[in-house]
Amino acid sequence: MLGLMQDRPLLISHLIEHAARNHGDTEIVSRRVEGDLHRYTYADAHVRAKKMAEALQALGVVAGDRVGTLAWNGYRHFELYYAISGMGAVCHTINPRLFPEQIVYIVNHAEDRVLFVDLNLLPAVAKLAGQFKGVKHIVAMCGREQMPKDSGIPGLLCYEELLEGRPGTYAWPELDERTACSLCYTSGTTGNPKGVLYSHRATVLHAFAGSLPDTLNLSARSVVLPVVPMFHVNAWGLPYACAMVGAKIVFPGVALDGASLTALFETEKVSFTAGVPTVWLALLNHLAEKKQRLSTVRYAVIGGSAAPPAMIEAFQRDHGVEVLHAWGMTEMSPLGTVNHPKAKHAALDAAAQMANRLKQGRPPHGVEMAIVGDDGKELPHDGKAFGDLLVRGPWITSGYFKGEGGAVLREVPGRGGGWFATGDVATLDPDGYMQITDRSKDVIKSGGEWISSIDLENAAMAHPEVAEAAVIGIAHPKWDERPLLIVHRKAGSAVTKDALIQFLGSKVAKWWLPDDVQFVDGLPHTATGKILKTRLREDFKDYRLPTA
Ligand code: ADP
Repeated sequence: MLGLMQDRPLLISHLIEHAARNHGDTEIVSRRVEGDLHRYTYADAHVRAKKMAEALQALGVVAGDRVGTLAWNGYRHFELYYAISGMGAVCHTINPRLFPEQIVYIVNHAEDRVLFVDLNLLPAVAKLAGQFKGVKHIVAMCGREQMPKDSGIPGLLCYEELLEGRPGTYAWPELDERTACSLCYTSGTTGNPKGVLYSHRATVLHAFAGSLPDTLNLSARSVVLPVVPMFHVNAWGLPYACAMVGAKIVFPGVALDGASLTALFETEKVSFTAGVPTVWLALLNHLAEKKQRLSTVRYAVIGGSAAPPAMIEAFQRDHGVEVLHAWGMTEMSPLGTVNHPKAKHAALDAAAQMANRLKQGRPPHGVEMAIVGDDGKELPHDGKAFGDLLVRGPWITSGYFKGEGGAVLREVPGRGGGWFATGDVATLDPDGYMQITDRSKDVIKSGGEWISSIDLENAAMAHPEVAEAAVIGIAHPKWDERPLLIVHRKAGSAVTKDALIQFLGSKVAKWWLPDDVQFVDGLPHTATGKILKTRLREDFKDYRLPTA
């Protein structure tokens, strides 16, 4: 027997409609690429999103078409999220930091019909425009006054001109909730990037789960500044979750340096922010240097890479900010786990609390997790056994766009099918906390045992003179692989290899200690701010360990 409840579809257009009706005067503040601050409300955003849907229709965009964006975090990008998905087309966010050839590949693979581009990215796009195969229109995200005289892009359209004279009465279609709404490519450190195609249903469910107290704890009292870009897995779902709960949003635009962020945090009274460790490293350094304190931020999400303990401590000790360590991936919309303590953890001593905080956290309802060994069988949830992490749930991919990479789901004996292998190696404990030990391709295999590069990096980054550290496995005749620590020292530091090894000696098992330390002027990062280990392995491919 079926229940008798209404079968209303879960749609992205309903989120912005809800925000406009119930939080109509709540502000969305944006630092524009032009430099000034722009302020308006959810009610304004809704009308402009409708006008943009009307404009897209006039440009010939129909349901299912892909519309690309190359843009920073700002109100026009926010409007596009809702206009494109709301009308049944697919909002394809593109990371402008990718290599030019990757951008061309992605635009052509997605078959983008229209491309929206922020002002400061137009010169780069002008160089590539001739290689975009299906793009009919390129739109500059600015007003008429800012339109470049000679952009080098034939027929370049103007965002504000597209909206002029539109009625703004567009009726959002009642789509099937499984309709595709947005598309994001994984950064593809090996091989070509692969597209993850989100649905309305998945996105709305992800926004519900993401707002829960033990997830991102968002409400109509939150002031949210997403540092994480809107092209990095939809800014981790924040543009949707904020509309769902009616939180004020502060978009930082392109200025993500410590001084610019601090100014926005303070003047807009930001309570919640989210970003990757590299951004926080720069912010915390800036604050320490200027002897400034964040006065309103309550929560800072650290995700995308492991949160080093020194960073968690600095946020807490110097700024009273509670770090929410989070883990996820493009294929998971992206939220998988967030770390909040349970009531019983309050009784633990400081060291035990920190050990728990370093874990990547617990999944909200909707994300199921399993770890399996080499034989594919499930491993115990004892916080010790580690294996390949598999996930299942309504906002997790069932396969890549256009079938790239083939079938991705597999079976876990005893727990059925439909599991996605994350490529991460992790432990699960009896309280549901997951801890990543490594990416499966980064783990160091020494004499048949595994050494966690993340643990070693965290330990090294706790040294006061280390700006950033990475650990990679180097071939070794006896042990198969041994760890090499690569360190970027803080300015003015002359800390030595011996001092660092001695420092690590008190933090990790002796057989984990790196066989050597190499100093570099900076570490390479991926377009989403992770340390680019493939490049490091390439850079050190001729390097021989002194112990070999
Ligand atoms: P990319 O940024 O490379 O496009 P994703 O954002 O999808 O791709 O990256 C997901 C991966 O990032 C995860 O599988 C995991 O390896 C890593 N990651 C994300 N968050 C964390 C975290 N909190 N701790 C450790 N690793 C993390």
